[in-house]
Amino acid sequence: MRQLDYRHHFRDKVLHCCDCRQSFVFTAGEQAYFQSKGLSAPKRCKSCRELRKRTLIPDMEERSG
Ligand SMILES: [Zn+2]
Repeated sequence: MRQLDYRHHFRDKVLHCCDCRQSFVFTAGEQAYFQSKGLSAPKRCKSCRELRKRTLIPDMEERSG
């Protein structure tokens, strides 16, 4: 049986959202997922991320041409 033993490597972390400044938990499971995708730690809490997803704020709006 092969299972990802991320619990030995990751621990729940408390991060601070760069949008609302609230603290949120970056769980061990999420850390393993983010690392497997080659992503760095999230800068926003879950609700702010959901909000951005829902409103679909374009990141690159400044496009002169
Ligand atoms: Zn937030």
